[in-house]
Amino acid sequence: MNQLLEELTQFLNWYKETYSDQVYIDGQWIEPAVHQAEVRPAVKGINRPSSAIKKSLGQFNVALRDFYEEIKDCQKCPLGSTRKNFVFGVGNPTAKIIFVGEAPGRDEDEQGVPFVGRAGQLLSRMLASIGLSREDVFIANVLKCRPPQNRDPLPEEIAHCEPYLKRQLRLISPVLIVALGRIAGQVLLRREDSLSQLRESIHLYEKIPLIVTYHPAALLRNSQWKQHAWEDLKKIKKVLKK
Ligand code: URA
Repeated sequence: MNQLLEELTQFLNWYKETYSDQVYIDGQWIEPAVHQAEVRPAVKGINRPSSAIKKSLGQFNVALRDFYEEIKDCQKCPLGSTRKNFVFGVGNPTAKIIFVGEAPGRDEDEQGVPFVGRAGQLLSRMLASIGLSREDVFIANVLKCRPPQNRDPLPEEIAHCEPYLKRQLRLISPVLIVALGRIAGQVLLRREDSLSQLRESIHLYEKIPLIVTYHPAALLRNSQWKQHAWEDLKKIKKVLKK
């Protein structure tokens, strides 16, 4: 009995460490009721930037900071009233490479900065494996506000938010774009293909090479994909070297 309890405790600790305190039910990540109760509407104009946002703004050039000021209070879709923070993006305003994820999760919504949770930590390790740091790159998402319970972005949310990403890509003008996961790849390329189809080639987005790879959160759940992800990272390194 004691052994069973010990094994169960170890399993639960591993689960919590790996997936935070979310549970996976019927194909969706669900958060405990306490977090749902914590979701407070942002009041237009009075949600002040967190210290993490202020730190990322410090890195920006004037054009990017002006753009942040222009869109940070966006209320074009209902996510504007359920978010805690608008998650603009972070990193080097003249980066050669931009990573584009899907949408902020709970940690990102809390801090106002993309990829700061467990998936973000894995992204940082992936970058380090090809000699890059978060300061070298720019990281953004298709959606700037967190969808409740991390559900997939809705077409109307994408329609309102994608122009913001487009403008960021134009302001930063990278030599390579990396879409993290199927949804970012589909949105940027306007294609309905599966992730494996999207991974097959190097695409072009407004003449800029674009590589689609696994979303780090998917790699956390399916470690057997890490080998394929490593192949993608090598491809990224090669394009950057050219
Ligand atoms: N997943 C994303 O797609 N973006 C984030 O910022 C965090 C998790």
